[in-house]
Amino acid sequence: MADARLIDGAAIARRVRERVASEVAALKARGITPGLSVVLVGDDPASAVYVRHKTKDCVEVGMRGEQISMPATTTQDELLAVVDRLNADPDVHGILVQMPVPKQIDPAAVIARIDPAKDVDGFHPINVGKTYVGDSDGFAPCTPAGVMVMLRESGVDLRGAEVVVLGRSNIVGKPMAALLVQPGVDATVTVCHSRTRNVAEHTRRADVLIAAIGRARFVTGDMIKPGAVVIDVGMNRIDDPTTKSGTRLVGDVDFEAAHRVASAITPVPGGVGPMTRAMLLENTVRAARRAAGA
Ligand code: NAP
Repeated sequence: MADARLIDGAAIARRVRERVASEVAALKARGITPGLSVVLVGDDPASAVYVRHKTKDCVEVGMRGEQISMPATTTQDELLAVVDRLNADPDVHGILVQMPVPKQIDPAAVIARIDPAKDVDGFHPINVGKTYVGDSDGFAPCTPAGVMVMLRESGVDLRGAEVVVLGRSNIVGKPMAALLVQPGVDATVTVCHSRTRNVAEHTRRADVLIAAIGRARFVTGDMIKPGAVVIDVGMNRIDDPTTKSGTRLVGDVDFEAAHRVASAITPVPGGVGPMTRAMLLENTVRAARRAAGA
């Protein structure tokens, strides 16, 4: 079998960003500058990098990207007060509290406090519900929404397809399954998790395999049906003495083996990651458009 076609997430994300940039320009012409506020509590270095990327992405498409940094000792009430202030600020269209938050803060309480109309992460129960009932008025979480765009832009036919999702987290696996099973998308979806018996038995059936478990190169070539489409959400840092940093980013899929079996596959990095970032911008510009009544 020929090597798999690469699904270029970076290129698809670039197109999404260009579309967002022109929508931002149109809103600015009407005096509205879409704005995202990202709240970072504590000093987790990985979270700090993510937040920096998110605000930088905003600025690049002409939006306002604000970072609010709070100390690791912040109380839940202090964080909720900041969320309340952002909810009330008409210049703030999207609010995102970077997870994880320090252990004295209940993440569910914080997410529930964000105005659902500004919840561009799509984690508020109202938006979770809208995603499940197929109400496109809500915000779907950025990673699964980005995967849907990638599949669509790559011409993958999901109608009646067997899709296997590895992972059942609230931010990736579960909403991914919800989006795939909607009428109009029409995939047949299996969700696997750590208690699933014989995961490989499921994955080998998949026309489309979506891996989101956080286990480096867990999916081996023999777990993939020949000709399947493979979407690798995983981002795992492994040791690699041949690189300058001594580490390297790999997915949940053994790419070298998989790309000889699959018909199309996403790389890591350069696959789902850039799409997630692009969808946050899309959700924010949509929130701004809606706030403006456009
Ligand atoms: P998570 O909250 O840790 O969830 C992992 C899921 O995988 C859980 O449902 C877990 O099952 C399941 N799992 C773990 N080991 C398994 C195994 N051996 N067999 C089958 N299922 C297994 O992780 P997440 O937040 O969903 O993220 C998953 C991966 O995607 C991570 O590598 C993360 O870094 C990456 N990610 C990437 C992006 C992006 O933009 N590219 C965005 C978000 C996440 P249980 O529920 O039974 O524990």
